[in-house]
Amino acid sequence: MIDNNTFKTRRQALIQLLPENCVAIIAGATEQTRNNDVEFPFRQTSDFYYLTGFEEPDAFLVLCPKRSDGETILFVRPKDKNMEIWNGYRAGPEGAIQDYLADEAFEVEQIDEIVPNLMFDCRSVYASFGQNPDFDQHIMHWVNQVKSHARKGVSAPTQFNDISNLIHEMRLIKSDAEIEQLRKAAQISAQAHHIAMQQCNDGVMEYQLDAHINFHSKMNGSKREAYSSIVGSGNNACILHYVSNDQPIKNGDLVLIDAGCEYNYYAADITRTFPANGKFSKEQATLYQLVLDAQSAALAEVKPGNLYNAPHQAAVKILTHGLVDLGLLTGDVNKLVEDEAYKTYYMHNTGHWLGMDVHDAGRYKIDGKWREFKPGMVITIEPGLYVALDNEQAPIEYRGIGIRIEDDIVITETGYDVLSKDCVKEIKDVEAMCQS
Ligand code: ZN
Ligand code: MG
Repeated sequence: MIDNNTFKTRRQALIQLLPENCVAIIAGATEQTRNNDVEFPFRQTSDFYYLTGFEEPDAFLVLCPKRSDGETILFVRPKDKNMEIWNGYRAGPEGAIQDYLADEAFEVEQIDEIVPNLMFDCRSVYASFGQNPDFDQHIMHWVNQVKSHARKGVSAPTQFNDISNLIHEMRLIKSDAEIEQLRKAAQISAQAHHIAMQQCNDGVMEYQLDAHINFHSKMNGSKREAYSSIVGSGNNACILHYVSNDQPIKNGDLVLIDAGCEYNYYAADITRTFPANGKFSKEQATLYQLVLDAQSAALAEVKPGNLYNAPHQAAVKILTHGLVDLGLLTGDVNKLVEDEAYKTYYMHNTGHWLGMDVHDAGRYKIDGKWREFKPGMVITIEPGLYVALDNEQAPIEYRGIGIRIEDDIVITETGYDVLSKDCVKEIKDVEAMCQS
């Protein structure tokens, strides 16, 4: 678990990055209507949770560096006996101070009155501008209220800075405690993939495998999926963001499952591809082994100091080589790599940051250059090959095969550690798991 002292330490670290004469405002998530009286399950925004651990809707975190009455202020929903009977416990301002270690806390209704006062004589405002037009407008409304006091000699902020990047650079390097949450998420999800392999039979519906995955994850303490599962059989595996999951799985198909749970706000993101009947055909095995080889080559590039795109470059080289050998591409390998000819069969990147968000926060390039791997960064490595049924460029025996193999990797001092290593991926191990 990440405890409340850790959240406090993060706020203090963020304050260290801010100039003295500023106010920073971070908004939490609001509830979203699904239909009529039904709301989507609430999930706090990752930035807000990272800094507070606070899971109620309609909250704001305000940071005022060097303010004598306290640097950290939380605005939260008021205590309300009646509402709490219907919808559950509210911390209220008192709880926000006592349990969430804010220096001061107020009811969210008071924010219009208090924030302009905090902005008096401040030079700059930090917020996640550009994400929510209503929120941006609200900030300008507060600034204008300060301006209306100009004749009393008060000056209003004139600089508006994005705070997202500061928070996201903090989130990019994971602490040991964060890595343990990610490892747990990956361990639960690895077992869930095994169960899907075991439960797959001719005629099973794609959503039924999704149900097995969800059931196992929730039974093991995950509150929700990190993202909507992809369960694509046969040609559906070639649709990169296939989420209909509503087709029967047929004997002879491959099944591609991209699924990961969220554990204490940290995501797993694992993909496995396996034969519905427990045995890869010759063509399926050939392409599968090629993707697995590409993944090994990509992993060999994961170490501190290497550039972020080194794994991708290694993967496309192996894939292109294999595609030429098998007759899916023709030409000189180096030239084909340069021309990105592999994109006919491999159209996505080899990975992304992983953390509280499945596509986690943090920049991939700085000043136009790929950034270097550092210990504590967490990435996915997920090469694939997708030969769609209607791809007339490909030999007919390979059409309708979609494969991706995705693991979750933490960069260590000396190299890397695979968080999802429990999940089988060698051909013989996958077949054995399917048949067990
Ligand atoms: Zn991924
Ligand atoms: Mg994935």
